[in-house]
Amino acid sequence: MHPIRLISKLAPKAINYHSAGRGSAIDVIDWRTAAHALSGLSQEASDWAWYRFAGQDDKLPRVVRALTMYVTLFIKIRHFKIKPETLTGIINVSILEFTQPLCRTCSGEGSEPITKTVCKPCCGTGRQGISRRQRCSVIGIDHKNYTKNHDEVSKEILRLLSAWERDIFMNVRKKMGEIS
Ligand SMILES: [Zn+2]
Repeated sequence: MHPIRLISKLAPKAINYHSAGRGSAIDVIDWRTAAHALSGLSQEASDWAWYRFAGQDDKLPRVVRALTMYVTLFIKIRHFKIKPETLTGIINVSILEFTQPLCRTCSGEGSEPITKTVCKPCCGTGRQGISRRQRCSVIGIDHKNYTKNHDEVSKEILRLLSAWERDIFMNVRKKMGEIS
């Protein structure tokens, strides 16, 4: 299968905050094709790929563990004080944020279609946003207690997820023979 076709079949799961609407399209591609396209990835990127693109929800605890490990180090370096249960909440909400459907205004580009300035509805993230109240209810803290440090940690998690996703797409293209 052509890599672009494979990637389009590996439909990312969008998790809706308000309903349980989640979708995955792995059943329309050959499992061996998917396994081949994902082989050679780092363990964490591979776990993320199976969770996000192949509907393997049982990979989520491994993803959370890997993110916890990386972000604990990040928190230590920055001398942040964040409780372990709050950190788990931030990881959960960051995954939720990362897997939101694309922004309707910019279709995921992050910039206004005509003016090319930063898209206002999504603030350039390319995804439909989660409000601060929703965010805090997922984390399990009062919205008044949400700080800049929490936000920094969340951004670091989103950065890690983006990096994994870049690796996944590179790997799929490589394995499917588009680039050597
Ligand atoms: Zn947008």
